[in-house]
Amino acid sequence: MGRVYNFSPGPAVLPPQVMEQAQAEFLDWGGTGISVMEVSHRSPEFMDLAAQSEADLRELLAISENYKVLFLQGGATLQFAAVPLNLATPDQVADYVVTGSWGKKAKTEASRFVQVNVAADAAASHYTTVPNPATWRVTDNAAYLHCTPNETIAGVEMHSIPEVSEAPVVADMSSTLLSRPVDVSRFGLIYAGAQKNIGQAGLTVVIVREDLIGHAVAQTPGVADYRVMADSDSMWNTPATYSWYMASLVFKWLKAQGGLESMAQRNDAKSVKLYSAIDATDFYTNPVEFEYRSRMNIPFTLPDAALDSIFVKESKAAGLINLKGHRSVGGLRASIYNAMPEEGVDALVAFMADFEARHG
Ligand SMILES: *Cc1c(COP(=O)(O)O)cnc(C)c1O
Repeated sequence: MGRVYNFSPGPAVLPPQVMEQAQAEFLDWGGTGISVMEVSHRSPEFMDLAAQSEADLRELLAISENYKVLFLQGGATLQFAAVPLNLATPDQVADYVVTGSWGKKAKTEASRFVQVNVAADAAASHYTTVPNPATWRVTDNAAYLHCTPNETIAGVEMHSIPEVSEAPVVADMSSTLLSRPVDVSRFGLIYAGAQKNIGQAGLTVVIVREDLIGHAVAQTPGVADYRVMADSDSMWNTPATYSWYMASLVFKWLKAQGGLESMAQRNDAKSVKLYSAIDATDFYTNPVEFEYRSRMNIPFTLPDAALDSIFVKESKAAGLINLKGHRSVGGLRASIYNAMPEEGVDALVAFMADFEARHG
C-alpha cells in the first residue's frame, strides 16, 4: 500500500519531507556514523540539535527572552499535574475553564494538588461551545487560569483568550500550537504534547514565563519541576532524543514553509473547504457553534449513525484513514493538522460528495 491521507487526531500525520530526511539519515546522522537514536544527549552534536531546535521554536513563535522553553516527557498529561505543583500551593485556588474532555481531565488531575474552581464548564452543551466569558466565575488571586484553546475530541476552538482574570493564563495547546501565530506574552505557560502538530509522541513542549519558575511544592518530582528542568536545559535526565530530533526537523520544515502566518493561511483554507462541504448539505452536520469551530479537528455526523461504519470502511478503501469519531462523541472526525496537505482535504471532500450520492 502507498501513502494514504491520515486524518488521525494523534499520533498524527507528519510532513513527508521530514520523514524522508529522517529516513535518509537514519543510520548515519550528520556524519556521526551512527543513528541520532544512538547518540549521547550530552554529545556536542545533540547539544547543537537541542540549541538549534529551541532557537527555531523561539523564532517561529516569537518567544521573548523572559520565557523558558522546555522539552520534556510525560505528555500533556504529566503537565496536568506539573502545572499545579509548580504554580500553586495546595491551599491556593486555580480556575479551570472546561470546554471539552481534555480540560475536564486536566481539572480532575489538578484537583489532587490544588483547590480547583471550575470557572466555566460547557458540559451542558455536550462541549459544542465555549461559555460566554462574561459568565466565567473567576477567583480573586487565583494561582492561574487554565484553559484548552483547542479541544481535540469535540473540535471546539477558542480563537482568542478573553481577558477576564489577573491570574496567569495556562493553556494546553497540544492540538493547536504551531497551527498559527500565538501571542505568547498573553500566557504564563503553554504546554503541548508533540504528537499532534509538533512531531511524534514522547515529547512535550513547555513554554513558561520565568517568574513562574522556582515555586514548585517540595514534593514535586524533579522531572516535573520547571526549575530543575530549566536549569539543566531539559537534560536533568535523558530526554526523548529521537522525538526531540523529529520536532527539530518539523521546526525547520515550518520555517521553510514560510512560518506560522503561512501555516495559518493554509489551515484556514483547508478548514473552510471542509466546513463548506459539511454545511452545503443536510446529509453532514457539524454540531459546534459556528464561532468556536476548530480549524484542526472537525467532527461531523451522518443522518443515520448506522452509516458511520460504512463511511469509515469505504473512506479507508479510498485511501482516507482514521476518520472514525471519538467514542465519546460518535460520528466521524477529520483532524487536519499542519502536515495534512490541501489535496488530502480535497480528496475527503470529493469522497463525501460521492458517499452522499450513494447513501443520501
Ligand atoms: C492529545 C491531547 C492530550 C493528551 O496528550 P498526551 O501526550 O497523551 O498526554 C492533552 N490535551 C489535548 C488538548 C490533547 O489534544
